[in-house]
Amino acid sequence: MTKVFIARAIPGEAARRLAEAALDVEIWPGEMPPGRDELGAMLLQCDAVMTMVTDRIDRDLMRQAPRLRVIANMAVGYDNVSPSEAAEEGVWLTNTPGVLAETTADLAFALLMDAARNLTASDRDTRAGGWKTWSPTAFLGQDIFGSTLGIVGLGEIGEAMARRAVGFSMRVLYASRTPKPELEATGLQRRTLDELLAESNFVSLHVPYNDRTRHLMAAREFALMKPGAILINTSRGGVVDQDALVEALRAGRIGGAALDVAEPEPLPPSHPLFSLPNVVITPHIGSASLATRSKMADMAATNILAVLGGHEPPNAVNRPPNPRSP
Ligand code: NAP
Repeated sequence: MTKVFIARAIPGEAARRLAEAALDVEIWPGEMPPGRDELGAMLLQCDAVMTMVTDRIDRDLMRQAPRLRVIANMAVGYDNVSPSEAAEEGVWLTNTPGVLAETTADLAFALLMDAARNLTASDRDTRAGGWKTWSPTAFLGQDIFGSTLGIVGLGEIGEAMARRAVGFSMRVLYASRTPKPELEATGLQRRTLDELLAESNFVSLHVPYNDRTRHLMAAREFALMKPGAILINTSRGGVVDQDALVEALRAGRIGGAALDVAEPEPLPPSHPLFSLPNVVITPHIGSASLATRSKMADMAATNILAVLGGHEPPNAVNRPPNPRSP
């Protein structure tokens, strides 16, 4: 029987849809992801796998899994699997674009507001008994209206972030590989990364993670940021040189950071970022609404059903020249 492995319990109807298509569906029962050996053992018997961002599948694992025909990543980012390696091995790799941009931009904007107005910091202090009186000087934040947001990587999520910022009366700059004239018509202005860093009160990262974007934000870039500016990262942890970030925060060169992603994930509790008061950290929850995660799982299931049905998957991020056959 054709077998599908789902690497974690997922919300919505996706698992039921796969089972109704007469597939043998096995769902990893653990709260923690399968380890490499466990993943390898599962893949050995599988024709398709639905992976999460936590499941790294390299060439060796693909070679050990001769039946595997599709890796359907339940995420828009796919830095956990190399598209070219998968193609060379005859395995389709798919992702979930178009369904999570608004949800992730909601979280990015929430992080911006939190860091600007000390929501988490003041909540922490209040719970610890710090609310003694109304104070004219406590938790003075930064105004969001009238300030400048710099968006690095103006793709689906960056664009959704820009719309939110315009609604909050912010000026919006962007740095992206390709110009977006249709968005410039709505008031967005293109800058080089260096110019953007020098002009922005808030810098929000929305690039994919790859060899070219690794440590895109490092010591040099933090030095270029406006004093007191705030960094928001909902892309991937590796886009930021975290040691340089800690240094820039400690030295007071930038005003704060709000991070949904880190390197590594999870960030160990002893990491210096946790000891800095002007840092907000959420555990990679950008797309975490019930509706959106259900849509992502559904999309991944559709991609699996397409490949197992002998068709090209609708959301392929690679194109195997010789796709594996059953
Ligand atoms: P997308 O639509 O592909 O947009 C990415 C944008 O980045 C594109 O506009 C691209 O430019 C631009 N870009 C790529 N390399 C660049 C570089 N070196 N410098 C400047 N711009 C560059 O992707 P998306 O859906 O917006 O998602 C972006 C990333 O967010 C994903 O790859 C993922 O890692 C992350 N993400 C995180 C969460 C979370 O839970 N925190 C959720 C979803 C996604 P072009 O327009 O020129 O191609």
